[in-house]
Amino acid sequence: MAARLVDTGHDVTVLDDLSTGHADAVPDGAAFVQAPITEAAGVLAGGFDGVLHFAARSLVGESVARPGLYWSSNLGGTLALLDAMRETGVRRMVFSSTAATYGEPESTPIPETAPTRPTNPYGASKLAVDTALTAYAGLHGLGAVSLRYFNVAGAHTGADGRVYGERHAVETHLIPNVLAVALGRRESVSVFGTDYPTPDGTCVRDYIHITDLAEAHLLALDACRPGGHQIYNLGSGSGFSVQEVIETCREITGHPIPAVVGERRAGDPAVLVASSELIRRELGWKAEHAGLRTIVGDAWAALTR
Ligand code: UDP
Repeated sequence: MAARLVDTGHDVTVLDDLSTGHADAVPDGAAFVQAPITEAAGVLAGGFDGVLHFAARSLVGESVARPGLYWSSNLGGTLALLDAMRETGVRRMVFSSTAATYGEPESTPIPETAPTRPTNPYGASKLAVDTALTAYAGLHGLGAVSLRYFNVAGAHTGADGRVYGERHAVETHLIPNVLAVALGRRESVSVFGTDYPTPDGTCVRDYIHITDLAEAHLLALDACRPGGHQIYNLGSGSGFSVQEVIETCREITGHPIPAVVGERRAGDPAVLVASSELIRRELGWKAEHAGLRTIVGDAWAALTR
């Protein structure tokens, strides 16, 4: 996102405490401040048009084991940031919400009007922020947009040719874990359950390319209106099973990628597919890099350059 903003001519400052991030991921042309989110006021005093708020704890399993960490980082951190924005007169926020706010869906594709019943503290803490944003917008004139991400994947290439891929100390996501086998970093990939009520028995997810996600943030930033809070789902609208992801990775890498069937992972809904009709209709967004081959191909290219 920072690279995309720099490429479109914005002045960008990245604030990160580096608890899970990487200073060398900050693009050329963006300023970088290493500080906790609770100290954002000092940075915002420099004068900003808006905040894109990505900072959060985001591992479902960890959130179940350490809920306090999730409530304090995700909700507490955001409330501190919102207060810093009020103090310094910054009026626009684009917030990284999540499909986890919905919990187990009653039907798919999931529209924004679906009931929000998160099944873990991660989703609950993100939903609490969405609730706070509505209140702050109504009371304090904040203009906010929440984007509820489904399964973000792929890699982004900046205008200068630099490639930004996924790099987590603890990798839990499917695509990087499958590609790690092709790279020889893991022996096999575990398939978490083959007895779901889906065509091949494995879970179905909606994968969205990181470049399409960044594009939605640019549109959302322009769409922030004082006093308003909009919530949009962000997915490609197509579902792919774990089995299909592994097959596509085999085709793209030419590696056999051994897969081992394991137990279901706690809290995994069978199918999570977004309806992104609302953001399409209201902001004109669409997934330009849709399709598993594009997403996996870009993720693989980023790992093998
Ligand atoms: N998954 C899997 N093996 C892995 C990682 C994930 O079978 O090593 C499955 C997981 O159970 C889910 C899907 O792949 O059904 C996507 O998981 P991921 O963690 O990438 O994203 P999530 O859907 O949890 O946001």
